[in-house]
Formats: sequence, C-alpha cells, structure tokens
Amino acid sequence: MVRNELYTLDEVLFRLNQIVIPESLQCKVIKAAHSMGHLGLTKTKQMLRARYWFPALNSMVEIIIGRCYECNVTTKEHRQEPIKPTKIPETAWHTLAADYGGPYPDGHYNLEVIDKRTRYPVVEQTKTTTTRATIGKLRNIFSTHGIPERLEIDNGPSFSSNEFSNFATEMGFYHHKITPEHPRANGEAENFMKLLNKTEQIAHMKGNHSNDAIQDMLMGFRSTPQPATGFTPYEALMNREVRTKLDYVRNNDETENMDKEITQRDKEYKQRFLNKHSQKRKYREHSFKISDRVLFKQEKRNKWSTAYELEPYIIYTISGSSIGAQRKSDGRKVFRDSSHFKLANNIDIPNSNDKWRGRILMHTKPNGDKHMVAPGRREMPIRTKRAPARFRDCMIIKNRHHK
Ligand SMILES: [Zn+2]
Repeated sequence: MVRNELYTLDEVLFRLNQIVIPESLQCKVIKAAHSMGHLGLTKTKQMLRARYWFPALNSMVEIIIGRCYECNVTTKEHRQEPIKPTKIPETAWHTLAADYGGPYPDGHYNLEVIDKRTRYPVVEQTKTTTTRATIGKLRNIFSTHGIPERLEIDNGPSFSSNEFSNFATEMGFYHHKITPEHPRANGEAENFMKLLNKTEQIAHMKGNHSNDAIQDMLMGFRSTPQPATGFTPYEALMNREVRTKLDYVRNNDETENMDKEITQRDKEYKQRFLNKHSQKRKYREHSFKISDRVLFKQEKRNKWSTAYELEPYIIYTISGSSIGAQRKSDGRKVFRDSSHFKLANNIDIPNSNDKWRGRILMHTKPNGDKHMVAPGRREMPIRTKRAPARFRDCMIIKNRHHK
C-alpha cells in the first residue's frame, strides 16, 4: 500500500506530503523534535507526523521519550506500594505507636500514643517536644498502663537522640523507627491524629479549653466499638466496660471470647480494606532490584525544583517496600519507601563530561538528611547497560529494513 504513495522529488523521498526519513536519521529527527519544548507523547507524535513519515514512528517516539532525562526528572510517577496486611499484636499494650501533633494555635503540642491491638489512645499535652519532655510524658503513660514491648515512632528529633535510646534500654522496650513517610505503616496513629486535630480545631473555634475537649473525645473514642475489633478500647484493654455519660454497659458474657474475637475480626477487617484498595491501579508492588539506577523524589523547595533529584542513585539494599540507594558523586545514601524512587536504568543520563554534570552538582541539595553517610571513595558497582526489552522492537525494525 505504502509503496504506491511513495515518490521522489529533488532526491528527497516523499510519502504523500510527508518526507520519508532514512533509518540513519530517524532517532536524530525524533530527538530534535522532542527537544523543542519536551512536549508529551501525543504532541511530539503530532509534531513529527505533520512533516515526516517512517515506519514505527509511534513506537520510536515512545521509546525515546521514555529515555529522555529531562522529562523523567521533572515528571512524578504516582505509584504507591500496596498496603500489606499487618498482623495485630497478640496481646493488649504490646505495641504502641507514638506521634506528635501540633503546634496548635496556643503553642502546645499533643503527644499521641495508641495501642495497636485495642486501639486505646492516650494524649499528653506539652509545650515542647524535646526528648526530655517526651520521656517525661511517656513515663506518665507507662506508669498507668505499663511498659509496652515495642514503641513505633517516626524519625522525628524527639525520638531519635541517644537520650531516648537510653530511656528505651532503661525501661526495656524496643523502639522501632518506621520508614519515613511510608504512607500506611503508622495507620492507627495517623487516623487518630486526624480526629485529634479536628477536636483541637473545634475547641479553638468555640473558644473551649483544648484539654477538656480532648478528654471528652477520648472518652467517646474509648467507649465506641472499633470497626476492626468489634470491641471498645476500654473493654479490650481493661477487660471491663467503663461508665460514661451515655452509661453504656455491655452484657458480660460477650467479653468471654474477646481475645480470640479481636484477633479474628481484625484480620477480616484488614482483609476487606485490602481487597478494596488492591483494586486501585496506583497500588503496585515495586520491582526494583539491587544495582538498579533510580531517580530520587525531592521535596519541593521552590516552584522551580524538579520532581526528582538531578543525579541518579544506585540501589544497594532492598528491605520489603523500603529501598536504600546511593548517589555516586558524594556517596550520599538515602533509605526510603519505594514510592520515592523511579526506575532510571533506561534513561539517557547526561554523562559526566557533559554540561549537565555541573548543573547536577549545583542543584543537588547539600542536605540535612539523617540517613546521610560520610562520602567515601567506595563506588557502587554500576550494572553494565543492556538494551532494555522495549528497545528490541526498535532493533527488529532495523533488521527488517536491511533485507
Ligand atoms: Zn524530554
């Protein structure tokens, strides 16, 4: 078919009104067109098709834009790790999650601690979030309910000093730092924090004392059956109902099999939640491998900062959904949830003598990252580049042409 549409004019091959580009120039033409503004797939294809024709133009544009460094470093990928079913701790007050909220309008903070089995929450108000203050508040909580086996915390400065480690050793609990910004690892604490912030907001709006409002909310929350367990936090933790303004007293024989039921119901509840979420496309497990080259998402510092850092990293460790990666130029290491990385094995990274290099170094954050390790001479092995699977299309096409 195409043959009938071909003709030459002044030694240029045409197909209808499009110039036919010889194979040796196809990549160059696409790159030249794309680099005019780095337009997306559709626009780049349209731009080319207005003037040029060659077989497999579409798939070549896709491959070349997929490899474009500038486009990759500036566009965010929205993949998130699927939520994994977390096992409920076997006993009450075994594993707690702790987090700070605030500062609130009058300058106070809330230290929030929630039991991951019973969902029993405790809130302590404080004017400062220093380690010293944090330890003091935790002592109050532990003297009432006992010391947990495990305390899950984020990487905030309140929990990460030596003083805090010493406190944990002294009391005999294990403090587990959850991966920074892992969306779901601290679900119980996060959800309760939302409610707590709402309580603070309403109290502020109505001019009420925030502690009064919080204690009211706590009593309400603790005396309401939890959707995951079917029991109220009061009865799940204390093995008895507590009298409230609503004067709710539960039938006693219902609590007999409570322990078994909590574990079973929690499992079913999480499974239902999971089924609902796993259907969404953006939740996919990562497929990163050691030695993969990746781009690392960066915080927006100003409206010109790119979605990803300009210099790629190499993955050196993978632990479930957490990824450790290292940057070559200064040896900086980061350890984050996989949603912070984007695969860059097949991206054409400007090489070190390129003018981009200077810009990479210039734009790279000097960083106050806690995971940073001293720069060293040691360089991570970089995997030898092999043609990505997608490129085989391109090669097959080439072979066909040579016939
Ligand atoms: Zn581009």
